[in-house]
Amino acid sequence: MEEKLKKIQQDYINKISSSKSLKDLDIIFIELFGKNGEVDQLSRQFKDLAKEDLKIVGSLFNLIKQELEKTISTKREEIKARVYKGLEDETFTFQHQVLEAKKRKGHLHPVTQFENEIVKLFNKLGFVQADAPQIDTDFNNFEVLNIPAEHPARDMWDTFYIDKSSNTQTTNHKLLLRTHTSNSQIRILKNNKPPIRMMTLGRCFRYENVDARHEHTFEQFEIVYVDKGVSMANLQFLSEYFFKSILGKDIKARLRPKYYPFVEPGVGIDATCVFCKGSGCKICGNIGWLELAGAGMIHPKVLEAGGINPKEYSGIAWGVGPERMAMLKYGIEDLRLLKSGDLNFLEKF
Ligand SMILES: [Zn+2]
Repeated sequence: MEEKLKKIQQDYINKISSSKSLKDLDIIFIELFGKNGEVDQLSRQFKDLAKEDLKIVGSLFNLIKQELEKTISTKREEIKARVYKGLEDETFTFQHQVLEAKKRKGHLHPVTQFENEIVKLFNKLGFVQADAPQIDTDFNNFEVLNIPAEHPARDMWDTFYIDKSSNTQTTNHKLLLRTHTSNSQIRILKNNKPPIRMMTLGRCFRYENVDARHEHTFEQFEIVYVDKGVSMANLQFLSEYFFKSILGKDIKARLRPKYYPFVEPGVGIDATCVFCKGSGCKICGNIGWLELAGAGMIHPKVLEAGGINPKEYSGIAWGVGPERMAMLKYGIEDLRLLKSGDLNFLEKF
């Protein structure tokens, strides 16, 4: 019996000292002191012992029992202290990382930097910023811009419509994500009297197949210029002013006829190819020009919808894709990188 006791003592002292968690200790405790545990089983055998033996074994049993209890509780405190220290270390590392992150200096997104530059350029010519919502009615986004329902031009600007059941607004018009910043035009024309020099910058949406040159979510910049005697000559000047400022003094602008329902006449605006300076290369398809902007004289119907007499005033609407321009300026090949959130890419700018 004495040997049995000593074996249990030795086995469990070893077990306790090699245990690594509080859970291990709980298991050991139950093995020893639980119902049908080692201690329980031993004490049940005492009734078979002679009185003299019982005296010796009994006191040894009590001593070992106390020792094992004490060893477990000491080990328990030790593990607790270690876990706490570990937590402290982890917390310290985490706080340290937060501090490091705070110290790290960020910067504006390359497209934002570029947009700020564009805004500044037109600011110098007296243009001020206007705003328009990203969710708008199809009336403001299409109809008022001379694109009635069922008009084939709507195919060019397929977009995302808002589910009517989630539409809590009291409007009979369909709600959609704006396809261009031109939804600002009706607001600008209605709320201001000529001469008007305003610009809109912001996010637009189209139902596009995404690839290296197309995104369903993109930025647009647009100006609206309305005054007496505004003509295509102003449009040519503004285009060249923009290209020269952004891409270099040797860049020229060329206007080509293009159809946009909200302008008459409409133009696609080419800039001298920045890669070959006009001599022709792979990127410009050997033409020497790159189409970078779209514009035109604001359609008389649009002016009228905005409460401006087209016989008295004329206006220019002129727009450009800041992301496309930033790609050219910084030599970015894939449009998708700009919204990737990839710091390795963004930190280059
Ligand atoms: Zn070229």
